[in-house]
Amino acid sequence: MNTLKASRISTAAGRFAKLIWRPSHLVRVHASAPPLTRQISMDAQSVASRLSNSGLLRSQGLIGGKWVDAYDRKTLKVYNPATGEVVADVSCMGGRETNDAISSAYDAFHSWSKLTAAERSRFLRRWYDLLIAHREELGQLITLEQGKPLKEALGEVSYGAGFIEFYAEEAKRVYGDIIPSPLADRRLFVLKQPVGVVGSITPWNFPLAMITRKVGPALACGCTVVIKPSELTPLTALAAAELSLQAGIPPGVVNVVMGNAPEIGDSLLASTQVRKITFTGSTAVGKKLMTGAGGTVKRVSLELGGNAPCIVFDDADLDVAVKGTLAAKFRNSGQTCVCANRVLVQEGIYEKFANALSKAVQNLQVGDGFTEGVVQGPLINEAAVRKVESFIEDAISKGAKILHGGKRHSLGMTFYEPTVISDVKSEMLLSREEVFGPVAPLLRFKTEDEAIHLANDTNAGLAAYIFTNNMQRSWRVSEALEYGLVGVNEGIISTEVAPFGGIKQSGLGREGSKYGMDEYLEVKYVCLGNMNSN
Ligand code: NAP
Repeated sequence: MNTLKASRISTAAGRFAKLIWRPSHLVRVHASAPPLTRQISMDAQSVASRLSNSGLLRSQGLIGGKWVDAYDRKTLKVYNPATGEVVADVSCMGGRETNDAISSAYDAFHSWSKLTAAERSRFLRRWYDLLIAHREELGQLITLEQGKPLKEALGEVSYGAGFIEFYAEEAKRVYGDIIPSPLADRRLFVLKQPVGVVGSITPWNFPLAMITRKVGPALACGCTVVIKPSELTPLTALAAAELSLQAGIPPGVVNVVMGNAPEIGDSLLASTQVRKITFTGSTAVGKKLMTGAGGTVKRVSLELGGNAPCIVFDDADLDVAVKGTLAAKFRNSGQTCVCANRVLVQEGIYEKFANALSKAVQNLQVGDGFTEGVVQGPLINEAAVRKVESFIEDAISKGAKILHGGKRHSLGMTFYEPTVISDVKSEMLLSREEVFGPVAPLLRFKTEDEAIHLANDTNAGLAAYIFTNNMQRSWRVSEALEYGLVGVNEGIISTEVAPFGGIKQSGLGREGSKYGMDEYLEVKYVCLGNMNSN
């Protein structure tokens, strides 16, 4: 940090992000589009000024407790995906800033890891209290930069803050072991100690929760962190970091750099001071990081892409199955790693289920996440819409049929119609890859064995869902599915108290629950010898 020039630094109380607003944010509808059915309930300008007043709008990176510009003063723009307008210009950082952030985290590690568990727990608890106290502003920030409906964004704040609360408690339960010795004059102990500095790279789809799931247990164990949020959604990360400072968490324990992802990633990988990389994002980038971590033999946790099957058996309760599939598929406009990617429906219930799901999907109101009643926001960007379009084109060209939706929404921008598509087959892109959009592809199956085979026929293994009223089947199929998470008669199952993570190419390690702590702890064996001498 000493190497930083004073001119590059402003204090935590200092600068706010520069907001660039135009009144057209309020209603952006294509000329040919039907009018929005309800008034926009939230004035964007008032959201901006409220966020500014609370000190939560930050545009600089956080290094060693100081808010810092990119050293070459470069910035990047953050957009509101619902309007395409610029929300803020934030620092666009790279390798040099990352190296300084690593040094700060390394310096802070020595004192942070020496605190008692109870002291670290109190810091985390204060951070949790502040996240909850600022739930409204954080929710608005998530909607602004990520697009999800405000109600969902507020839900993310509660869910994300929950990890900080849970790990504030778990910090006090890092137990070691005493092992019965095979030799009479020895005593054998196992100590659990923090890994060290952690590089934490996170995606845009949950701008807060993907960070707290990593940073909560890391800090609880005594690690310090360098966070790299997605360039698409850095503002929520910066706001959470600001609240960590307000909670009194010492400088250098939490650092944030954003900008040139490959450069930042390479610096984290190359550093011998960084002892662990924890990553949530695409499988392609995860593989690169895993390979790169080999150079310095770092530990790696990976939360990667999924291809979740949602299996509806003939014996399912139709209403429960439709409600569960809606939740598992259309949350965050289909942009979650655990979103149902393939809906496998048994032939006896296929027609009834397809009709009921299509009817339910017609009622999903699409629009700006600040509009009351909206449950489907925009996709994150144009590339995401093009991906959905290409998957739909591929499916139609191979015989699939649109039951509802199937094209861009008349609102324009990156809004896409919630879609149900039937007669989907295993060889179509919709079955092979994550669509990451609001499309429910229906595949037909005859037997339980066929459903299990179809469900497991993928390299991904994150989440799976089953709808059945047969208890024996729910056990049998849960055991047979090659997935890290299984929801039975339930479409949303993630919680801070349960382990979250994938198998096969969906990742390594677990987040949440007591298992989430293991990712940030080293196991040290201590042997006391000559214990019988005086
Ligand atoms: P992504 O492109 O892999 O990006 C994730 C993060 O990695 C971002 O911060 C990105 O930075 C960064 N990144 C990109 N290239 C990098 C590189 N060469 N070195 C270091 N960092 C790099 O994924 P995404 O599109 O943001 O997120 C969607 C994916 O995440 C989906 O596949 C989804 O399934 C997965 N996901 C998984 C989970 C889970 O728990 N398993 C949860 C949520 C999402 P920039 O954005 O700044 O480029």
